[in-house]
Formats: sequence, C-alpha cells, structure tokens
Amino acid sequence: MESLHIVVAGAGNTGSHLLPHLARITTITRITLVDPDSYEESGNNLEGQNIDRIDLGRPKVEVQAEKLHRIRPDLGVVSLQACIEDVPRGLLSSNLFAGCLDSKRARQHLNEIAWRLNVPWIDLGVLGSQNLARVSTYLPSPDSPCLECSWDPGPHGDYAVLEQEYICGAGARDYPSMASSALGALAASLAAIEIAKFSRSALPGDFGGRHVLVNAEHHTMHVTTECRSQWCRFDHRTWQIERWVCPVASTTLGDALRALGCLRVEGHRFVRGLVCPGCGRRDDALRMNRPLTKCPVCNRRMTPTDFGYLDHLDPANTADSSCLTLSNIGFRAGDIVSSYGRHRVIQEAA
Ligand SMILES: [Zn+2]
Ligand SMILES: [Zn+2]
Repeated sequence: MESLHIVVAGAGNTGSHLLPHLARITTITRITLVDPDSYEESGNNLEGQNIDRIDLGRPKVEVQAEKLHRIRPDLGVVSLQACIEDVPRGLLSSNLFAGCLDSKRARQHLNEIAWRLNVPWIDLGVLGSQNLARVSTYLPSPDSPCLECSWDPGPHGDYAVLEQEYICGAGARDYPSMASSALGALAASLAAIEIAKFSRSALPGDFGGRHVLVNAEHHTMHVTTECRSQWCRFDHRTWQIERWVCPVASTTLGDALRALGCLRVEGHRFVRGLVCPGCGRRDDALRMNRPLTKCPVCNRRMTPTDFGYLDHLDPANTADSSCLTLSNIGFRAGDIVSSYGRHRVIQEAA
C-alpha cells in the first residue's frame, strides 16, 4: 500500500510504545489517535508507559500527537479524546486498526467496528504478572476468525469476565495494567513489525487469524493460527456504507425519517430521559444514549430515568419529537445510520 491510514485505540502501556514506531514507517501517512484519558502520576503511568514527567496531567492523545510531529512533521494526525465506542464510526474508516486497549469490553467494541467497516485489525496484549506479550491479527470477512471466536462462553470464561470490567465513563478505572514499560515495548515492537509487513504487502490475505505469544518469563514463543468458530457469538457481518449528506444541526428528525423511514445507530440506543446521579438534574428530551453524556452542572455521567430505551427511531415512536434537529438528539457527523439493512455515514457537506 502506498499510503496507510491507521487508527490507534489506546495510548497507554502498549500504545505509547507503538506510536513512535508507526511514525517511522514511511508508508504510514495518517494516524488517528483515540484515548479518553490523561497521563497520571498514580496508576503506574510513569513506570509503565513511554512518557516523560512533563506529560503528566495532559490528555494522552494530545501528548502523543506532539511526539509524533516531533518525529515526522508531515504526518497527518487526528486526536480524538474519547472512548472508542463513543467515536462516530465513520471517523474510524481507515486501512488498519491497532488495538492498544486494556479491557476486554473495549476490545470487543473494536472487533465489532472493524468487521462493520471492513478494516483489518491488530490486537496488542500484555500480562505483567507472567511476562507475556501477545499480538493477534484479524482480517474481517464472514468466514474469517474474529476476536470472539476464541472466547470461552463458560460461566467463568471471557463473557463472564466482561460483566466485571469497567465500562467506559462509569468512573471505575481501578484496573491499571501493571505491565512493565519493557513488556509494553515488546508487544509494541512485535506489532510494529506486523504492521510494516502489512503495509508492504499488496494483498494482505494471510494477515488475519494469527496469534503470536512471547513468554519472556520462560523464553518461549508460540504462534497459533485460528479458524472461524461456528459457536462464535458475534455475527461477523460487514457493511456496505453509502454517504448521506445531512447537516445535523439543520435537519429535523421529521425530515430524516421522511427520507429514510427509520434510524438506528449501532452501538447506541435512544432514551426518553436522563437523570444525573449527582445533582438530580433531569433531561427529558429524546437523546441518543452516548456513553459519555455528562451532566452540564456537575459533569457526572447521566443515566436513563427508566428502561424506556428505543433501539431505533421511526415516525410512530417519535411523533412528539419530529421538530428536534438531529444534533439536538445527539447525532454527529460521521455517525453511521442504519435503516432497513442499508448503512449511511452522515456527511455535513457534499
Ligand atoms: Zn468470531
Ligand atoms: Zn449533575
């Protein structure tokens, strides 16, 4: 490939080490950085991540964008300070995702987005307590293995662990990876080599379904290839995505429903009301339930007032809200709207 656009999700233990390598791969011309957090003195950030003391207290994406520009001033960098699941999916359309994430839930989101957008992805993982570094590659198609194909559905398996993990925006961030800087750098080096190989190959058909595991504790390396599991819970669907020119600030819900019939945004639902658990402020308008909808007064994450979720909007369930604009409801440019099996990415202008 001549010029590669990579989305890097996560700028912590593995991501902070991966990014400088990516800036030095000349076929990469654009990097989109996604991470909701700032570097902190607590939580092992200085010991485990490729940062300096002056970076503490600053958003990770901002710090890393500056470091990338110091290495390659001509590199195109877009910084999105958000959880991966909260970014409008159209903004993630690219040649490759690098998942530098520390939660199973976030990895599951990235896997789903990769399949929907038909973007190959590489997952980096470390286990500090056992000195394990792992890189796994995935190439979306209905018949190729995905992240969840190897997940254990049992009562103590991967899906059970998901329930215990933090959900982005819920405020519980007490699961820092205690991996060393060296281990994060090892996973990042393995990934950067795979990414360089990917960028050189015209037809990266053998990219997907491979796990490379380095056990630095016992000096062994395992490479396994995987098949698509017939018991996988993920549907493995990929989308054809059309463009939809729709200025969200001036298009009403009524206009949009007359054009498309119904509206869904995968990964999100709609709610009739939100309440702040801190100050009790209520917001009773129709809203997309973005995970980061925060109280304008005390900045806490608002929660739905009841279980009246709508998974789609149509003229029958929104008759009282047809005059709201799409941006009032929470739609943004780059959101992918699904209706009757068709998928359209919202564009502000033609
Ligand atoms: Zn699968
Ligand atoms: Zn509040």
